[in-house]
Amino acid sequence: MDCIFCKIVAGEIPAVKVLDEEKVLAFMDINPACRGHILVVPKRHAENIFEISEADLSAVMGAVKRCAATAQEALGAEGITVLQLNGRASDQLVPHLHVHIMPRWENDGLTVSNWEMKSGDMDELQDIADRVKEHLPPS
Ligand code: 5GP
Ligand code: ZN
Repeated sequence: MDCIFCKIVAGEIPAVKVLDEEKVLAFMDINPACRGHILVVPKRHAENIFEISEADLSAVMGAVKRCAATAQEALGAEGITVLQLNGRASDQLVPHLHVHIMPRWENDGLTVSNWEMKSGDMDELQDIADRVKEHLPPS
């Protein structure tokens, strides 16, 4: 498969690794959006959140928690943005699930969480919640 992150997992192309476990690899983003920008990926290929098993996602998120806490401490960050994109419409570029860990500082100017706040229409919010609830499978 021609997947850049599978090639990193297989050691076919280099990466600056942070964590290497049975199910998960974490490495530095090659185009860091901020100081300490880390990517956490499952070793087993899954394109997105829809495809990955809950077991692999759980392993990824466990590693995200540990990497985020450690990066915050090591870099003296004031916050951490955790970001995960699914599909072209959400700006996902690499089709192998990955979670971004982005250390943050006050007024760092990073524009990933500054959408315009507008009040929602309560009837519409309720309608959407009802539609999602209706189709939600049990855990
Ligand atoms: P996304 O798919 O969530 O938009 O972001 C993909 C991320 O992967 C980008 O931040 C990009 O810099 C990073 N990336 C793409 N190719 C490579 C690579 O070969 N090595 C590393 N370390 N990061 C990569
Ligand atoms: Zn892959």
